Amino acid sequence: MASGSQAARNLYDRIGEFLVDQRLDPDPANYAFAYQLLANPDGPLARAVHALTDGGVRLTRRDIETLGCDTQPVAGNPTATIEKAQGLVAQTQMQVEGFQDMVTAIHAETVDFGRDLAASARAMRSSGADNVEVERLTATMLERVRSAEERLESANREANELRTKLEEARDNARKDPLTGLPNRRAFEEAYAAQAAAGTRICMAVCDVDHFKSVNDRFGHVVGDRVLKALGEALSDTCKGHLVARYGGEEFVVLFSGVDIRTAREILDRARIAVSAKRYRLRETDAPLGEITFSAGLSAAAEGEVFGTVFHRADQLCYAAKNGGRNCIRID
Ligand code: GH3
Ligand code: MG
Ligand code: MG
Repeated sequence: MASGSQAARNLYDRIGEFLVDQRLDPDPANYAFAYQLLANPDGPLARAVHALTDGGVRLTRRDIETLGCDTQPVAGNPTATIEKAQGLVAQTQMQVEGFQDMVTAIHAETVDFGRDLAASARAMRSSGADNVEVERLTATMLERVRSAEERLESANREANELRTKLEEARDNARKDPLTGLPNRRAFEEAYAAQAAAGTRICMAVCDVDHFKSVNDRFGHVVGDRVLKALGEALSDTCKGHLVARYGGEEFVVLFSGVDIRTAREILDRARIAVSAKRYRLRETDAPLGEITFSAGLSAAAEGEVFGTVFHRADQLCYAAKNGGRNCIRID
């Protein structure tokens, strides 16, 4: 009993250390992630995190989302896609992190040194020692320390800004600028991470019906707005699952931890919500006519690579088009 509570205490402490070390807020999502990671240190999630953090790179909130903080602990290997995430940006980030740690350490030492020098100078004065030369040297040293401290502080600030920018760059590389949704790359990485963690996955490919005609009738700018609105409608309805813009007028959804029946119900709600909306031109309030999409939905089998599942869902989407559009086809 006592050793059980000691083990729990140790785990709790290690979770705290991990969050502080990774500079992650102790919010429930990060806490749950750290718990899963540390409660099973030899598990697939731990290996995936090691692949990402090898050499000292810190995890970002995005990494945690990609790895899936609601993953059930299951067998599997982190895939090459996760290792690919250790790209140039990650390396640069590691250098910045290292530089920042170094600057912080030097700063701490300099502050201590400055404090000691100031104390020595005060001691000399109060002991009545009359050594003008030593006092002058001490004053010069103190000034230098102060100036070094200022420069170190500014270097630290710059490193901090650079770190934030690098995190943004990592995020932007995975974001579609028009809709703000994750892009194809983010989607494929999320699939790889979730498949490696053994999460149950269904994938949907959604293609807007007769979208060319929207562009032809109202122009590309209006077409762009429709894509944005569609992305929002899909994200709202499929909350909790990853919605991405795969390209052009094609959206994809990664349903995690649900069976294909549930995934279908959610996707059908999205389809109905979109087709029921009365889209209008912002400027004149003129109706755009009905906007609909067709979709293919497929369940991923254990160990299936992204391309195989995507191809199946894409073929099913074609079948939905041939079946009259504004409908869903499943496996
Ligand atoms: P279907 O029902 O068979 O899917 O017909 P469709 O017209 O939607 O399909 P098609 O592939 O013929 O046309 C897709 C159109 O989507 C053509 C292209 O100009 C448009 N499109 C792709 N990306 C964008 C974009 O980012 N913005 C806008 N406005 N249009 C885009
Ligand atoms: Mg298309
Ligand atoms: Mg289309």
